[in-house]
Amino acid sequence: MFEQLGQQLQDQFRQLTGKGVLSEKDIDKALADVRLHLLAADVALPVAGELIARIKQAAVGQKILQSIRPGDQVVKIVHDNLVALLAPSDPSSSPLEKLFKPASPHIIMLVGLQGSGKTTSAVKLAHFLTKKKKAKVLVASLDIYRPAAQEQLAIFAEKSAIASLPVVKDQAVLAIAARAVTAAKKESYDYLILDTAGRLVVDKPLMAEVAALKKNIKPQDSLLVLDGLSGQSAIDTARAFHQTLDLTGAIMTRMDGDARGGAALSLRHETNCPLLFLGSGEAVEKLDTVDPVRLANQILGMGDIVSLVEKAQEISDEDEMAAMEARLKKGIFTLDDFQKQLRQMKKMGGMKEILSKLPQGILPQNMKNIGQMNLDDTLFARQDAIINSMTKQERRKPDIILAGRKNRIAKGAGVTLADVNRLLKQFLTTQKMMKQAAKMDPATMARQMNAMKGQMQRRF
Ligand code: GDP
Ligand code: MG
Repeated sequence: MFEQLGQQLQDQFRQLTGKGVLSEKDIDKALADVRLHLLAADVALPVAGELIARIKQAAVGQKILQSIRPGDQVVKIVHDNLVALLAPSDPSSSPLEKLFKPASPHIIMLVGLQGSGKTTSAVKLAHFLTKKKKAKVLVASLDIYRPAAQEQLAIFAEKSAIASLPVVKDQAVLAIAARAVTAAKKESYDYLILDTAGRLVVDKPLMAEVAALKKNIKPQDSLLVLDGLSGQSAIDTARAFHQTLDLTGAIMTRMDGDARGGAALSLRHETNCPLLFLGSGEAVEKLDTVDPVRLANQILGMGDIVSLVEKAQEISDEDEMAAMEARLKKGIFTLDDFQKQLRQMKKMGGMKEILSKLPQGILPQNMKNIGQMNLDDTLFARQDAIINSMTKQERRKPDIILAGRKNRIAKGAGVTLADVNRLLKQFLTTQKMMKQAAKMDPATMARQMNAMKGQMQRRF
């Protein structure tokens, strides 16, 4: 599905190459697709809508980077916006750092719907704090409704060598919580993790209970445990719990399966509360802190296009490019310009790396097996050497390069005469295209680009 998104974006943007900046109309067209795919990744409707609006703002009028396809550039803009949404709004007072501060005890209350993974996450979090932060952690179950729920936590905790509050029959929720706090203080635990009861849907008694708990126990952290597979309903869950509890963060579970993580965006949008941990399996060690960049990649599923664009952005010398563009508009494209283009490609890691970073769907059938293709990155070096062996005058007026000069250049670059001829031919083809492109209307340009792409592919 996401490979398809990549493909569709490429198709869209093939039509707008050569315009210099990303235009509103073209971006709208591409973002309509992005929107559909965000919805398919379980991002709630209003969230997707707002995200798209933001992305549009960021993309309109942005200068098209020369060394990559504009479609890739929009993917990067989408990605950056996802990261911004997922990252803590104020890194200086990171909620995770606050959570990592032990107290005597630091109380963490886990809330969420039934089956969202609260009990599992309680033990996972205890394990995490014990192992990574060398903390002393006590867990306690406040689920008095489901039969054996308290025992379930105790057994799971014991398996992982985590201390749990001894179960006392027929005690009320607030009484158990008070007992847990007393025990944690007395036995100097750094953390007390409270595993609360859930319901199948958000209901009033559940909310009243967690509200009373919060008021009485005053936990430093109230974390929502959200099922990564919960889809569009995640937005309602997040809203309801946040209104009642003023959540400090969330844990998203089941990220090991088909979950694409769209719920994380709904959470952020509705509560502005940060996603702190991801659960990726039933085992106790399957809990990780959130890396916004990785999560954005998971939600977007765009292979490594993003890192490819980052590289291109790093190396793109804007001034140089602007100068080249200006000259192109006057119909000037010399061997020096050609060399600059080649170098830019080389800086991006060579053809093999560029191709290997694109999602599979983008590559035509005959290019699937990159490993077996005869892609020789030393070609760049050879071409560079050939141009270096030319005089300034030759680079500006290649038509003066006749047999005698060709031999001299070949010798100087340590290549054959055929290599020099090939380079000159390649240059002339590119120059012709560049000159045409400078005069062309966008539609013709698009056709031309497609033809060029076909040629390049045949060459491989
Ligand atoms: P609770 O009702 O909220 O306490 O949910 P539980 O902790 O009892 O979890 C419900 C089910 O989800 C159990 O079978 C867990 O093993 C499973 N589960 C919890 N977290 C994860 C996770 O991150 N990945 C997977 N695959 N399963 C999980
Ligand atoms: Mg439970």
